[in-house]
Amino acid sequence: MANEVMGRIHSIESFGAVDGPGVRFVAFLQGCPLKCLFCHNPDSWETNGGREISAKELVDQILEYRNFIKDGGVTLSGGEPLMQPEFVKEVLTLCKQNGLHTAIDTSGGVELILSRQAIDAADMLLLDIKDVDSDDCEVLTGRPNKMAFDTLDYCEKTKKPVWIRHVLVPGYTLKQEKLERLAKFLSGYQCIEKVELLPFHKMGEFKWKEMNKKYELSDTPIPTEEQVKMAREIFIKQGLKL
Ligand code: SF4
Repeated sequence: MANEVMGRIHSIESFGAVDGPGVRFVAFLQGCPLKCLFCHNPDSWETNGGREISAKELVDQILEYRNFIKDGGVTLSGGEPLMQPEFVKEVLTLCKQNGLHTAIDTSGGVELILSRQAIDAADMLLLDIKDVDSDDCEVLTGRPNKMAFDTLDYCEKTKKPVWIRHVLVPGYTLKQEKLERLAKFLSGYQCIEKVELLPFHKMGEFKWKEMNKKYELSDTPIPTEEQVKMAREIFIKQGLKL
């Protein structure tokens, strides 16, 4: 139809349990401006990949699961969903009209001038802070961290609830001093309801190989239980809820 808002999606998960509160329908949108070294979905990067779908068609699919997700909701993840702000806005607006709770899982990798209206349409954000240091963030993701912090500031200003996500990567982010700095910084935000510390894993390594891309973290170990405990204690000490 002429006026339909179209988007590109990578995949869907009908019963997601780890992308926001409760059981959720999760749509992973295609396209990402970052190139995180630990990415487990490098096949979601290409903006022309995935499959095209209209917002209405996606919401019709979501509504088939309405009874299962009524106490959870819908999360648009990626890739970077905010690369398709009009599509995100339309899908979330239609979901809300149908009484569903909505979330965007984003790395904040898009200028606010483009993403603001889509953010406004969501009940909450799951926001990845990749690295507290911008230079290190560029090494880890190919981009500085400014836009993620701008996004967080915008959520603070608009009182949008945020769950922060931070991947613990040995040799990169998993450093006591950096974690202390990040925790202290985040503790100043009222909009942050929760912090999720995600231990680095290599489950996506095979995809890099399949795509003939060099996986730089082959020799990086996964965090030990003690390291994860140390990280958690740092955030708890700053009064943050995990
Ligand atoms: S933001 Fe997510 S999808 Fe994009 S490169 Fe990083 S981990 Fe992969």
